[in-house]
Amino acid sequence: MSNVLVTGGAGYIGSHACKALKTSGFTPVTYDSLVTGWRDAVKFGPFEQGDLRDRARLDEVFAQYQPIAVMHFAALSQVGEAMNEPGLYWGNNAGGSLCLLEAAAAVGCLDFVFSSTCATYGEHDNIVLDEDAPQLPLNAYGASKRAVEDMLRDFGAAHGLRSVIFRYFNVAGADPEAEVGEFHRPETHLVPLVLDAIDGKRDALTIFGTDYDTPDGTCIRDYVHVCDLVDAHVLGLKWLQDGKGSRVFNLGTGSGFSVREVMQRAEEVTGTPVPCNEGPRRAGDCTKLVSGSVRALNELGWAPQRSDLQTMIADAWKWHKLGQYEA
Ligand code: UDP
Repeated sequence: MSNVLVTGGAGYIGSHACKALKTSGFTPVTYDSLVTGWRDAVKFGPFEQGDLRDRARLDEVFAQYQPIAVMHFAALSQVGEAMNEPGLYWGNNAGGSLCLLEAAAAVGCLDFVFSSTCATYGEHDNIVLDEDAPQLPLNAYGASKRAVEDMLRDFGAAHGLRSVIFRYFNVAGADPEAEVGEFHRPETHLVPLVLDAIDGKRDALTIFGTDYDTPDGTCIRDYVHVCDLVDAHVLGLKWLQDGKGSRVFNLGTGSGFSVREVMQRAEEVTGTPVPCNEGPRRAGDCTKLVSGSVRALNELGWAPQRSDLQTMIADAWKWHKLGQYEA
């Protein structure tokens, strides 16, 4: 039996991970509260509804499926919301993860692949962000993710838990077959917002800050295709199964693009200008976040296939036109 418990499997990245797991011969068991996820996104294995903080429900699901590993995606992930309501982030992301770790350790399910974030690094202008960069998060989202990384280390030392921690840069794109894709309500991420503006689903994109110390004044991010990202997770799972032990990997391409560059590429892909206006900076945003690490390439054998901006936006556009879930 090769069940893998996927928390947050009804969300954007989790649903793509379920597809990648199924393609690789595993059975993804989605555990999701559906607070931000979509039942329609669960297409590749069984679904169990539940909250991360519901220990009794977690115990039931572990007993029923006896997963060989956990891929843990379930989390709140909006920086703006985290600034205003930090308690939500500490309770759900940190408290929920603690409950999950205790439930997993209690049944000896000790292989964990964890969805962390470059937001754990915070602001580090002009330094290359490799996995050893200091973690100084600027908001409760990054801080709660860093706390889970610490828990994983402590559970490793105490209970023999093994973890592969992935610190994502900016995830974009969608399944090229448009079976699953990015769908948040409300939407806060740049690429879907740009496509919504192009499509007339919203009036205009607001650029959050044009006075950053970057060539065009807008923030720079390192965008990675969701399909490449989840492929790394399957490699991470195999890494753990091969007994290679706990490890942290950045997942980014090493290339940064500004907000204006993303808009320009979307205009090229769709042939339509992006209606936009210029607004103030968004609280909690860093000037530039770009991965400086090749560890995932060298050690995991990760080989991103679709992470050029053009392909990411084209895949997101296809999903935007064909996909979407019932809201
Ligand atoms: N952004 C923007 N307008 C928006 C949403 C995002 O200018 O309506 C910018 C944001 O300030 C950041 C980049 O786009 O520089 C990526 O933001 P997103 O929320 O997609 O990801 P984050 O970097 O916060 O993880």
